[in-house]
Amino acid sequence: MQQIQNGAAPLKDPLALLKRVYGYSAFLGRQAEVVGHVIAGGDAVVLFPTGGGKSLCFQLPALIRDGVGVVVSPLIALMRDQVEALRQRGVRAAALNSSLSYEEFAEVRRALSQGDLDLLYVTPERIVTRGFQEMLGRTGVALFAIDEAHCVSQWGHDFRPEYRELGQLAELYPGVPRIALTATADPHTRADIIDQLGLGAARVFSTSFDRPNISYEIAARDQPRRQLLQFLSRHQGSSGIVYCLSRAKVDDTAAWLNAQGVRALPYHAGMDRASRDANQDAFLKEEGLCLVATVAFGMGIDKPNIRYVAHLDLPGSVEAYYQETGRAGRDGLPSEAWMVYGMADVVQRSRMIDEGASDEGVKRVERAKLNALLALCETPGCRRQAILSYFGETHPGACGNCDTCLKPVETWDGTEAAIKALAAVYRTGERFGAGHLIDVLVGNVNEKTSRFGHAEMPVFGAGKDIPAKTWQSIYRQLLAAGLVGVDHAAFGALRLEAGARAVFRHERTVLFRKDRPAAGKSAKSASARAETARSMLDGADGELFEALRAARTAIARELAVPPYVVFPDTTLVAFASERPDSREALLGISGVGQAKLERYGDAFLKVIAAHCA
Ligand code: ADP
Ligand code: ZN
Repeated sequence: MQQIQNGAAPLKDPLALLKRVYGYSAFLGRQAEVVGHVIAGGDAVVLFPTGGGKSLCFQLPALIRDGVGVVVSPLIALMRDQVEALRQRGVRAAALNSSLSYEEFAEVRRALSQGDLDLLYVTPERIVTRGFQEMLGRTGVALFAIDEAHCVSQWGHDFRPEYRELGQLAELYPGVPRIALTATADPHTRADIIDQLGLGAARVFSTSFDRPNISYEIAARDQPRRQLLQFLSRHQGSSGIVYCLSRAKVDDTAAWLNAQGVRALPYHAGMDRASRDANQDAFLKEEGLCLVATVAFGMGIDKPNIRYVAHLDLPGSVEAYYQETGRAGRDGLPSEAWMVYGMADVVQRSRMIDEGASDEGVKRVERAKLNALLALCETPGCRRQAILSYFGETHPGACGNCDTCLKPVETWDGTEAAIKALAAVYRTGERFGAGHLIDVLVGNVNEKTSRFGHAEMPVFGAGKDIPAKTWQSIYRQLLAAGLVGVDHAAFGALRLEAGARAVFRHERTVLFRKDRPAAGKSAKSASARAETARSMLDGADGELFEALRAARTAIARELAVPPYVVFPDTTLVAFASERPDSREALLGISGVGQAKLERYGDAFLKVIAAHCA
């Protein structure tokens, strides 16, 4: 602790340490409770959304309790960033993983044995090894923190078998507090974490999973590239992620974006390691970069100023959607989650489910999850309310920050149209996909409609008063409502589900949402919210912000760390608007702790003074 304390007696007061190390003057949400509980030796399960401030919940107690805090983390890249961020704050942190050279390894071992470490990050497979236990044996352990704890659960989407071993920690290190942390909102996964890690007696701290600074927009996919480009035009100069389902689509999309003048880099598991790491590194260190990726990218990405997450394909579940979109706006500033999707996604996802697990029970769960996501896509109500209610949280709706709230969706009584759509499925023998069914409904004479004799049926052309695009929307909504299902044995054909009968008999009316031009008007009002940090400042302040940002980039380059490790945008915004003129004034700004003041204070004061002269 010498570095933090500067020779003074160890600081045991959490609030004083919060200010000194992190530069924050108050705890967020339930942080203070968790910190107090763990300092007193209690076990904890921390369920805060991304950006909720989980790291502090184990870092502060580790600084206050005797011994080293051992943090289990699933990704080496993630460890590197966290260790770097801690070191910048004057905390003695290190990581132990397979990327270390022999000398680096020996240095960590030495620091550990001499009690020179406050926090040590390790991979789950290492923590249960004999060698590591022996290393720790000679040092006191302040606590074990299990980060990204949902990796222990098979229900989660990032299952890591090695996490299962962590259940042994309680027996191996009796009396050492354990704290598991995750941003997973799904109740099933949460229960599994507690069960697998033997944390039944731990105190559970959870907060609302709402991310009010993220706006949501989901639109029908129409011309995806044009839609994407239009969306990205609202985010020039900001960083964001575009998710695609396949590696090929990642490569194509990234290449196409570059041709359109958008700086984009690909990331997927099929790339060689060096280029993948280089692209991830560039994304973390540079600004204004669009990372086009499969879901192989993102877990544990700490970059706080990701301004948008776009999905060009449907994720597998509401959980996955929320986790992926949740990577935006960790710093609390306005950010956008945007997705386009179509019937083809549903067919593809259903096929993946059918061809995936062999267990019928697992398939059933996955189908139900996909349907829940579909219902979210097609809801005429507030998206935020729908998402939170899926996770068992109540929200009054009308959030004012999702596409359906910003531009309420009109609905229409579609019972007659639904009957026609269902009749087309039934009359053609439940053997065809939406494309062909729509050809039948609008009366398209083509090879297929003729070959199967569908052109002679009464249902042929029965829906020509409604445009094909609307029929697409109708089939999506019938699917979301569970009135039709996708049949894989028949290559994505639609079949009738139980509820269809009541519609045929006029016992059930069907309300459809009116599709509107995708990525259009609602986008505008959302974009007014999705400001960059700079646009929160006016004129002269904005210029100062740019000057501060340039100074930050120079420092970060020299140290080979991401800029936000030096100071986050929010701190620079405060510098620009409050214009501190002394070291004391700098310390008063959120995000400025003792170590960073010593390191960078003068450099930033100089920029401010020069600008104000
Ligand atoms: P999580 O791990 O839950 O996603 P982080 O620990 O990365 O969240 O914290 C998110 C952001 O909030 C970080 O930029 C962090 O520095 C900031 N933060 C955390 N605690 C506080 C606090 N008490 N006051 C101000 N900012 C905080
Ligand atoms: Zn809303």
